[in-house]
This record gives sequence, C-alpha cells and structure tokens, in this order.
Amino acid sequence: MNRSSFYHFLWIPFNKVIKFVSAGNEWSAVFIFFRMPNRRRFRRINTPPSMEGFKPFGVPMRELESVNLLYEEFEALRLADYEDLTQEEAAQKMNISRPTFTRLYDKARKNIAKAFVEGKAIIIQGGTFITDDYWYRCEECHETMVTGEPVTTCKNCDSDNIIQLDDKPA
Ligand SMILES: [Zn+2]
Repeated sequence: MNRSSFYHFLWIPFNKVIKFVSAGNEWSAVFIFFRMPNRRRFRRINTPPSMEGFKPFGVPMRELESVNLLYEEFEALRLADYEDLTQEEAAQKMNISRPTFTRLYDKARKNIAKAFVEGKAIIIQGGTFITDDYWYRCEECHETMVTGEPVTTCKNCDSDNIIQLDDKPA
C-alpha cells in the first residue's frame, strides 16, 4: 500500500467521524483542520501547462482583469476535454474521487467561460497537487521544464532565475 492509498483508506473513517460529531463542535473543526492538507495532496498532475495564461485581444490593457485557473483545474480540463477521458478515468488519473474531479472540472469551465464572456485574461497558477517529476518555469525566457531531478538553472538559456511550479513535499 503506497502512501496516498493509505491516506485514502484513512479518509473514509475520518469522514464518518466528522459526520458523527455535531456541526459547529470544535472537535469537528480540529478533525477537518488536520485532514485537509493531506487530503488535498492527492491531486496528481501529469502535465504542466506550457504557458502562464491567456490574454484576450481587443480589450484595452487598462481594463484587463484576470481570472485564476489552478493547475489542477487545467489538468481536469485537459484530461476530460483534450484527452477525451471519461470523468471516472480522469479522476483515477488524478488520484481523486469522481465528485472532487467534477468540482474541479466545473470550476475550470466556469472560470474559462467567465474569461471568454467578460473579456478577462486567464492566469494559470497555484493549487495543491503532487507530480511525479519536477516542474520549473524560467522567468527570463519563459521556458517550461519537466525534469526527473531538481535543477537550478534553465536548460534553454542557462538563467538561474527559475521558479518551481510543482508542490513537492519537503
Ligand atoms: Zn530560460
């Protein structure tokens, strides 16, 4: 049993415990507080987006606002609408439950629809997820790198001005 399936196993009884304890009780708050970080770590992402986001044209810069798309929301959309997986298959790939996947996917579509309709930019950033490899983006040349080992410089331009995109536990 690997670590994530172990936590999955734990999550079910904890869920029941929380239901047992009456709402508003401080113990349920304590349980939720301790459960959240581990549970949220399950989201697995295979592919980082190759860009930082999108900008609409025909909108004056001073009026340009943005919506935020989390990496896991991008991944949900990629798996369901680009890879054409069923929500069940996509949820399995991300190591999350089907309802959690549906929530991420719906939120991704709503955010993108909002950007399209209201003429907003889309910034892809943030989220809580794990990856099998290391992801970096160069702040100089904007290259996205996926590496098996940690690196300190950009493969493309040698700059050390790179940021790590994945949420690797220390
Ligand atoms: Zn670079």
